[in-house]
Amino acid sequence: MSRDPTAPERRRLMLDSVRDYLEQLAEEGLEGLPATATTRAAASQAAAVAPKPAAVATPALASDGVSSCTAAASPPRPAPAPIELLSRYPGLEKTATLEELSAFIGDCKRCKLAPLRTHLVFGVGNPHSDLMFVGEAPGADEDARGEPFVGRAGQLLTDIIERGMGLKRADVYICNVIKCRPPDNRNPEPDEVAACEPFLMRQIDLVRPRAIVALGTFAVQALLKVKTPISRLRGNWQEVRGVKLMPTFHPAYLLRSPGEKRWVWQDIQEVMKLLGIEIPARGGAR
Ligand code: SF4
Repeated sequence: MSRDPTAPERRRLMLDSVRDYLEQLAEEGLEGLPATATTRAAASQAAAVAPKPAAVATPALASDGVSSCTAAASPPRPAPAPIELLSRYPGLEKTATLEELSAFIGDCKRCKLAPLRTHLVFGVGNPHSDLMFVGEAPGADEDARGEPFVGRAGQLLTDIIERGMGLKRADVYICNVIKCRPPDNRNPEPDEVAACEPFLMRQIDLVRPRAIVALGTFAVQALLKVKTPISRLRGNWQEVRGVKLMPTFHPAYLLRSPGEKRWVWQDIQEVMKLLGIEIPARGGAR
């Protein structure tokens, strides 16, 4: 039988919701709120109640040694996923390689982002990698070069892969939920996601990685079809199309909030464990 929460419980639940909401806004790029008396009081109350995260050791940078992305301890590759999500575009399920998928997408005009792009940003990396990183959408640098994660946030992702995990960027596969840049880097809209996500699903099916790292609120929520804040999802294994998925913060968020890198490193270590990649004694992205 359920009971009404007591007043202190209600207050704690409310503060938890406020904290989740603020963390989500921060992860999406909001850098501050107007400091009215009300928001100051709420912030100090939340800070007083919120538990401090336990310190997570962030090892020093890895040496130049490069690990293999495939190890004997790795779980088997997942079986191909059902095709129903692909049925929006007849013939999509017949694409057998990433090259064929790229050709299928072609000079895509299937959503309103098409006339705004410089380049369609398909994805890069090892087409048979055990590990796939999925971000939100191309930004200005990516749109200009036609490659995902090439700006400052991209450099940080490369550091995570190469200096933290001891892999090469070319060993993993990197792409976004949306293949064309939304204007002014706004969040992709639902009709754009609906138009583009079958391509991502086919990419996942074709690469068939053993693990996906979903970067940031939007990618995680788009892949998992949830509205749960990233701060609640990160660090906990999920699954999409039969592939284990680790949600974590977006590198762009880490540039604004470097103190959160410890959590990403913790998430990445879980991925390394799953893939059987040795965690360097003194390694890790900073
Ligand atoms: S965002 Fe996706 S669906 Fe829209 S035009 Fe680009 S490739 Fe096509």
